[in-house]
Order: sequence, then structure tokens, then C-alpha cells
Amino acid sequence: MADCKWFPVCPMKYFYEQGELDRKWIEIYCKGDWRSCVRYHMEENGQPHPDWMLPDGSLDERLRK
Ligand code: SF4
Repeated sequence: MADCKWFPVCPMKYFYEQGELDRKWIEIYCKGDWRSCVRYHMEENGQPHPDWMLPDGSLDERLRK
């Protein structure tokens, strides 16, 4: 399965590369089941969503800058 098309520009990639996000999110969603990602669908639908919202739709205040 191909990676999520949003991965190159997704804040989750940035946070992961900064060492601030657990790799499991990338493996489960971005390089796996991106169809289940809440961020993906909101992006597709043009719905605003915070950078610190995780793929499952929960908010991680630790990532809030
Ligand atoms: S967090 Fe969601 S939208 Fe962002 S790259 Fe991963 S699967 Fe795609």
C-alpha cells in the first residue's frame, strides 16, 4: 500500500522527525491505513483542523506550540 499522499506536508511527519511523536502513528496510519485517518478526511474535505490533532482525531496538547 502506498503512503498517504499528504505525508510529505503533514505535521505528523514534522513532529515525528522532531522526535516529538511516537513512530506508531506513522506506521499505523501514514504508511498503513491512511484511509482511517481523521486528518486525512478533514484535509480532503477542506475542513480546518489543528496541527496537534492526531490521526485518530484526539488532540495532543503536548504538540501544541
Ligand atoms: S497523519 Fe493522516 S493525513 Fe497526515 S500523513 Fe498521516 S495518514 Fe496522512
